[in-house]
Amino acid sequence: EDDFGVLDSATDDPDAIRYLPALPVIAIVGRPNVGKSALVNRILGRREAVVEDTPGVTRDRVSYKGEWLDRRFTLVDTGGWEPDAKGIDASVAAQAEVAIDLADVVLFVVDARVGATSTDEHVVRLLRKTDRPVFLVANKVDDARQEPEAAALWNLGLGEPFPVSALHGRGVADMLDAVFTKLPLVSAVAKDEVGGPRRVAILGRPNVGKSSLLNKAAGEERVVVNELAGTTRDPVDEQIELGGKIWRFVDTAGIRRRVHLQQGADFYASLRTQAALEKAEVAVVMLDVSQPLSEQDVRIIDLVLESGRALVLAFNKWDLLDDERRRYLEREIEQDLAHVSWAPRVNISARTGRHLEKLVPALETALESWDTRIPTGKFNAFITELTQEHPHPVRGGKQPRILFGTQAASRPPTFVLFTTGFLDPGYRRFIQRRLREIYGFEGSPIVVNMRVRE
Ligand code: GDP
Ligand code: GDP
Repeated sequence: EDDFGVLDSATDDPDAIRYLPALPVIAIVGRPNVGKSALVNRILGRREAVVEDTPGVTRDRVSYKGEWLDRRFTLVDTGGWEPDAKGIDASVAAQAEVAIDLADVVLFVVDARVGATSTDEHVVRLLRKTDRPVFLVANKVDDARQEPEAAALWNLGLGEPFPVSALHGRGVADMLDAVFTKLPLVSAVAKDEVGGPRRVAILGRPNVGKSSLLNKAAGEERVVVNELAGTTRDPVDEQIELGGKIWRFVDTAGIRRRVHLQQGADFYASLRTQAALEKAEVAVVMLDVSQPLSEQDVRIIDLVLESGRALVLAFNKWDLLDDERRRYLEREIEQDLAHVSWAPRVNISARTGRHLEKLVPALETALESWDTRIPTGKFNAFITELTQEHPHPVRGGKQPRILFGTQAASRPPTFVLFTTGFLDPGYRRFIQRRLREIYGFEGSPIVVNMRVRE
């Protein structure tokens, strides 16, 4: 386990990372079995991207951080869910739709040995409507003999096919070189200008009230920024004024356009959630107080934690809350949301507009915590005091000491402790609790990493 990567972003200049850009996003689309996961593995050059042996199994993760010749990017694998033959067109189309909305560049993978199928042609029609760059990847060209088959894919009308072998690596470097000429340095989808509006994702399971909140917030003042001028698509993001400030709500297209899928709906919901988090700085997770908290709610919150974004919890449909339900709700919060007790909570009604104005201070608090930097001197004073009061317990005759600590990154605040031995997970949690007691960090996850000195 490598805890040191965070040091790459270490700097003493707080402004240097105040505007940490959103990484550009490459999405991979294609029907099952064309070699999408093989390609993900090849591009990332690591085993972590699972190749699923069992068809029909949902991969949990869909986005990965990658690096190619010093260019960093996010790779979104939309193919984690294998539809059966019946729903295949609809689900591959839904994949393509997510990719078009949320990626800067789309890689469309076709099996050159099989040639274009009717499902492929279906996707091509969707991809032709977008002005996002689309690369046609002709996979399974393991040697020159299959090159003519790749060339035959010219007739899909998506331009030059790139013959590759995801399995053996052939052609992948050339294809990526071409992709990187079209990939912006900073995600254009997120339009992360310095000093630009802060980016908010509204998340939650179906029917919690996401579109109601969006509509209420937008009201008459809705400022629509159409990213895809000249197409008929919905805008990907919307800029809305709230509390006298413009905010960028990411992936509102995903909220406004309801995709009705008979199968795989959960997978696509999760895909959208993760992809929207890539673009966001802070997430508002909406919960429906008229319903018991569900596993799905907790899962969405956990996706936010995994993404390291700031978090605000919005308890919606407050107008439906009666005394009995309220008692249950309090218990549910204690039981299921204890691990995010640091997240600001706002009780709202998207329908009546109740307390919507409270969202703004909650968002601001969460973002401020997320941006926080604690100077190294102050942090070490904190560590010294903490270890004097509560030394690490002795384990097997040894007592690991913390030599030095520093905040290696913000967004979210990430600390690194240099130690003489492995710190107990319990002790690391204790340090996190103490950090929150002293510094608050309301609305932001915090990370405490450790580096053991040899
Ligand atoms: P996905 O369903 O699109 O993610 O496809 P997979 O990556 O799981 O690949 C499907 C099958 O095609 C697997 O048996 C792979 O080993 C095989 N495959 C993938 N890429 C290549 C390739 O470049 N050449 C050959 N010969 N087989 C490949
Ligand atoms: P989404 O699927 O998360 O976008 O949810 P919607 O915004 O479409 O809302 C689902 C349903 O819940 C609709 O019938 C809304 O009118 C209703 N709804 C949303 N917010 C509230 C609220 O605050 N109070 C009540 N009573 N109903 C609400």
